[in-house]
Amino acid sequence: MTSTHAFWLAGRQATGETAFDVTSPWDGRLVGSVSVPTEAQVEEAVAAAHAVLDEFAATPAHVRAAALDHVSKRLAERTEEIALLISAENGKPVKWARGEVGRAVSVFRFAAEEARRFNGGEAQRLDTDAGGEGRLALTRRVPRGVVLGIAPFNFPLNLSAHKVAPAIAVGAPIILKPAPATPISALILGELLAETELPAGSWSVLPVPNDRMPALVQDERLPVISFTGSGPVGYAIMDSVPRKHCTLELGGNGAAVVLADWSSEDDLDRAASRIATFSNYQGGQSCISVQRVIADASVYDRLLPKIVAAVEAQVTGDPSDAATDVGPLVSEDAARRVEAWVDEAVRDGAKLLTGGTRDGASYAPTVLADLPAGTTLAREEVFGPVLGVARADGEAEAFAAVNDSPYGLQAGVFTHDLQTAFRAHRALEVGGVIIGDVPSYRADQMPYGGAKQSGVGREGVAYAMDDYTYERVLVLTGL
Ligand code: NAD
Repeated sequence: MTSTHAFWLAGRQATGETAFDVTSPWDGRLVGSVSVPTEAQVEEAVAAAHAVLDEFAATPAHVRAAALDHVSKRLAERTEEIALLISAENGKPVKWARGEVGRAVSVFRFAAEEARRFNGGEAQRLDTDAGGEGRLALTRRVPRGVVLGIAPFNFPLNLSAHKVAPAIAVGAPIILKPAPATPISALILGELLAETELPAGSWSVLPVPNDRMPALVQDERLPVISFTGSGPVGYAIMDSVPRKHCTLELGGNGAAVVLADWSSEDDLDRAASRIATFSNYQGGQSCISVQRVIADASVYDRLLPKIVAAVEAQVTGDPSDAATDVGPLVSEDAARRVEAWVDEAVRDGAKLLTGGTRDGASYAPTVLADLPAGTTLAREEVFGPVLGVARADGEAEAFAAVNDSPYGLQAGVFTHDLQTAFRAHRALEVGGVIIGDVPSYRADQMPYGGAKQSGVGREGVAYAMDDYTYERVLVLTGL
C-alpha cells in the first residue's frame, strides 16, 4: 500500500498540484508519493512564518518546551514504524534507522530541557568606566528571524530534528526543506508537530524542488539559513546570500589514526572492528564515516588483515532485514560514482584488498591500500563504503596526514596516552577529535561542525539555539 503524502503548510496539511515518487533504492518499490507545494503555497508559508515572528518569540518557554517534549515522546512511541520508513526511503539498514529515531528522540528532549534553561539574559554593571556610572546593561537573546532549514538525505529525520528543535526552543519560526530522496520521514515529524499547541505559521515542512530553492534562499523574510549537505550546494547558497546568517554542515573524509601504543591484540581487534563498522555504516553515507585509516608503521602489518577480515564480515543485503549491516547507497547513480572513483584509484596504482564491485545501487564494502595522493578518492569525500589505509612513521607524520585534506570535520585517534590526546586536540584541524575511537562518534548535545571546507558554524542543540538568536542589550540609565 502506498499513499500520497501531504506537506505541512503553516502547521496544517496541504497538497499542491503535482507530486513526485519516492522509491526504495534497494528494490525500486514505491515508498510513497509526495505532494509538491505550488509557488503560491510556498509564499503563504513564508508570509505566515514572518507574520508569527513576534507571537512565537513571546510564546512562553514552558509551552515551547512542552511541545518539544511531546514530539520526543511521540517519536519514541512510533520508533519502529518510522525506522522502517527511513529504511525504505533511504536504504539504511533498519538497525541503524532505529538508532537514528532514538537520536531524534534525544534531540527533541535536549531542546525541551534547553528551552527551559535558556534565558539568554545577564545583567552587567557599566560603572567600571566613568562614562557608565549610574548605568546597568541587561541582555537577552532574541531570534534573528525565520529559519530556513535545508536537510540532506542521509539522516533524514535526525538532521531535520537538528534544524527544527532548536528553532522551537528559542521561538524562531522555521521552514524545513527535506531532501528529495527522503522527504517522508520529515513529513512524519510534521504530523507530530501538528499535535502540539505551537502557533500556526511557526513551522512548515515543504518539499520544494531544488530548481525552485534559489528563490526561497533569496527571500529576505528568511534571514537565517541552516544547511546540511554537500559543499558545492552549501557554498553556492552562502555565496548567493552573503548578508544572511548561514550555518553550513558539509562533508568530510574522516580519518582514524592508530598509533604505536594501540598495539595489543585486543587493541587492534577493537580498532579494526570499529573501523570496519563505521566505514560501512549506512553504506559510508555519513559525513563522519571513516574514509581514511592512518596506522603507525609499527602496527600497520598486524592491523591491516584484521581490518580486511572485519570489513568482509559486514553483512550486506536487504536493509529491512535486522541482520543487515550494509544496505544499498541512496541511488544507483551514487553507486556508479563510487565505482568510478575506486576504478580510477586502482588504475592509478592503488591496491584493492577487498570489495570493488557494484550490483545496482549496492556497492561492496571496499578496502584499498597505497592510494596515490592525486586520485579523487584520496582527496574528496567518497560517501560510500570505501576505506583507504595508509602507513605513517610516528605521531607527527600521522597528524600531518590527517591535516592533508581540504576537509576538517572530525578525526579519531586510537591511543591510550593522555599527552598524545592533548597533542591531537591541539594539532588536528577538525571540529572534533575522538580519542580511543573512530571519527564517527557524535553526541547530539555537543558542538558539532567543521573546520576548513567541512563547514561554517556549529550544530548541537544549545549551539544552534545561540546561532538562531542574537544578543540585544538594554541600557538603563540613572540608577
Ligand atoms: P546535497 O547538497 O545534494 O543536498 C542537501 C540539501 O540541499 C537537499 O535538501 C537538497 O534538496 C538541497 N538543495 C539542492 N540544491 C539546492 C539549491 N540550489 N538551493 C538550496 N537547496 C538545495 O546533499 P545530500 O546528497 O543530500 O547529502 C550528502 C552530503 O551532506 C554529504 O556531503 C555529507 O557529508 C553532507 N552531510 C554533512 C553533515 C554535517 O553535519 N556536516 C551531516 C550529514 C550530511
